[in-house]
This record gives sequence, structure tokens and C-alpha cells, in this order.
Amino acid sequence: MFPHIDNLLDLLVKSQTNSLLALFNTDTLRPIAIQKLDMLTQELWYPGISRDINKYIGKISTPSYLAKSLTLLEQYQIHLDLTVSYSIIGGHTPVVDYLLNLSSQDYKSLRSKRIMYLNQLVSSDGNYLLTWEEVKRLNNNNFKGPKPKWFNLLENDFTLSNYRTLTYPLTDNYSIPARLQNIPEQTIGSHKKLNEWTYHWNASIQNCIIGKTYLQDTDTRSSISIMEHYIPINNSLLAIDLSFQSSCSSPLILVPCSGCHLNDHSLILQDARIRCTISVRTNRLSVFNTFHRSNQEHKKYANLSLKKYFVSTKPLHFIRYSAHSIYLAQHNINTTLSPSTLMPTNSHSSNSDDIIKHLTTTIQSAVTRDIKMIT
Ligand SMILES: [Zn+2]
Repeated sequence: MFPHIDNLLDLLVKSQTNSLLALFNTDTLRPIAIQKLDMLTQELWYPGISRDINKYIGKISTPSYLAKSLTLLEQYQIHLDLTVSYSIIGGHTPVVDYLLNLSSQDYKSLRSKRIMYLNQLVSSDGNYLLTWEEVKRLNNNNFKGPKPKWFNLLENDFTLSNYRTLTYPLTDNYSIPARLQNIPEQTIGSHKKLNEWTYHWNASIQNCIIGKTYLQDTDTRSSISIMEHYIPINNSLLAIDLSFQSSCSSPLILVPCSGCHLNDHSLILQDARIRCTISVRTNRLSVFNTFHRSNQEHKKYANLSLKKYFVSTKPLHFIRYSAHSIYLAQHNINTTLSPSTLMPTNSHSSNSDDIIKHLTTTIQSAVTRDIKMIT
């Protein structure tokens, strides 16, 4: 397979590549592989395998086996892409990508405070840096000690004004095909919405959230929707009435949430009847419809004596499934299951012999070009 190996380092690269491929592509070894990935994530404080691992490796005093192997392969310009969904929820801009010159002390501080993403430190529209007090509250953690160095760095070097505007606001670096996501219409300004129903996936509770938009606040860079939280009623209520069992899929009947931990107390609305309010970036939302009050589909649940209810035109399982797929697409998680867990980039072949062949050529061409750099 490697006909021209005449260098010890090449031999090492070959053996490392083989062991990694074996580790990630053997069913019985896969749990160990995932564990090693967890360790790597903990080490580099970066979710998954970074595009250029060499940038971060210097911050680790005793790198793990996986970190060392990946660094070696990276020197040969071989990058390994995971085909299983390995991700850490909570955001998509790693702090270590935003602040490039962190010390190992800063890494230690971020790790101990469980802060991995910039999304944990900024306003929900991605434009403003929160205060340290707000960061503590948002992350449900009363960190002891003074404000960390890396946070001072953000405050001093990465904000523009007294209003804590970020120099580089977080942008949504994804685009979802329209067939998947039906984003609410956006117009500049602050608008009340009368009949806009949306759903989105909430990663921390691993469920979809349904809401009726109250207000949409849009400027040229971002848009936020403030919504009243609605929850599905327990379908066992319906089972009591036999007449509903005839329908093949159970209807999604929504009632206002009377207040849960998602409620954002900082939002003060004009309407005091709203008990649970959530604010979300508008381009994470998908719209759906409910039946008009005069529609038979709505009227037929009148005898449930609910004070206020709406009936979705789509069933709950559809909305849940759709919310989750959009979430996965937004986070660039590949959901197609492949027989192999780890594949070299640019190789579309699932045959491991082909992968090895591909690697051989890649290594050989890299060796001839870069051998001086690594010796
Ligand atoms: Zn709620």
C-alpha cells in the first residue's frame, strides 16, 4: 500500500493514520474513539476537531494521544472530518476562535467556568457584550473571584462604545434551504405581530418551542422576535372523548404557558396577560399556521372548556421533527449515517482501501513538498 516509504517520519504518519482509522471505524472501538474526542474537546476547549489544530496545540502542556496524532497529520495537510454527529450544544462561535491569543491560564478559566462559546457572553442578537454580572446569570453560575482576564480583553479590545457593541458582531454563518425553514417575514423597525406562529428547537431542553410572536424588532444587522410561549395540551385529555379517536393523527392544541423557566423576566410587555415570554433571533424561527376560530377544526374542541386555545394545522410530530432538522442544519451536523465514522476530507469513497490509497497519494505529495518543514 505504501510502496515508497524510505523515511521514518512517513512510516510514523502511515501507522498513525491506520490506527486512527481503525480506532474510529471499528464498532467495538468507537466508544473509545468518542471518549478520546471528548478529551480533545476538553483539552482544546474547542468543539470537535479544529480545522487547524496546530494553532491550539501549543496551549496544552501534556497533549493527549489524539491531539498529538492529529497535529502530526495536520503537518502533512491531512485533515480528518467526523461523519458522526459530534457537537457541543450551546453556541457556534468558540471563544478560542474569537480570541486568538489566549494564555493557558485563560483556557483554564474558560474550562472551569464551562464557557466555550461567545454566544454565552453576548446578547441574543449577537451584537452586544453582556456585563460580567449578566454572564453569570445567563450561565446559571455564580463564579467566584474577580472578572477574568479574557473577559477584560473582550471588554477593552473587542467592543466599540459604552453600549458594549461588539466590534465583530456574531453572524449566523449558515443558510438553511427554504424547503426546510420558513423564516418569518422581516421589515426594519419594531412591529407588533398579530397572527404569527413559530417554532424552533431549544438545545438545552432538547425540545421544540412554540410561540405566538408579539413583537419583532429588526435593524439592518439582526432581528429579534419576542413571543408568547405556547404549550401543547396533554393529548390524554382528548382520549376521554371517543369522537376524537377517529382522526388518524392527534391534533396539536396549543394553550398559553402559564410561566416556566424559559420565561425572560427582563422583557416587559404592554400586555400583562402574557405570562411566559421568550425572545429569539428571528432567523432561527419557522412559521406555521393555526386554524381560524370559525373553522370546524377549531370549533370541535370547544367542549374541552379551555379558556384560550389554538389548533395547529400541522401535527406535533411534524413540527418537532422539522425544528430538530433545522437545528442540525444550522449547526452543520451531518445526519447521514455512514458506515465509517472518520473519513479524510475530499474522499467521497466509503471503501477503506480507496481511503488508504487516497491518503497514500496525499501523504506522498505532501512529503515531497513539505519534508523540509518538518524535519
Ligand atoms: Zn413557558
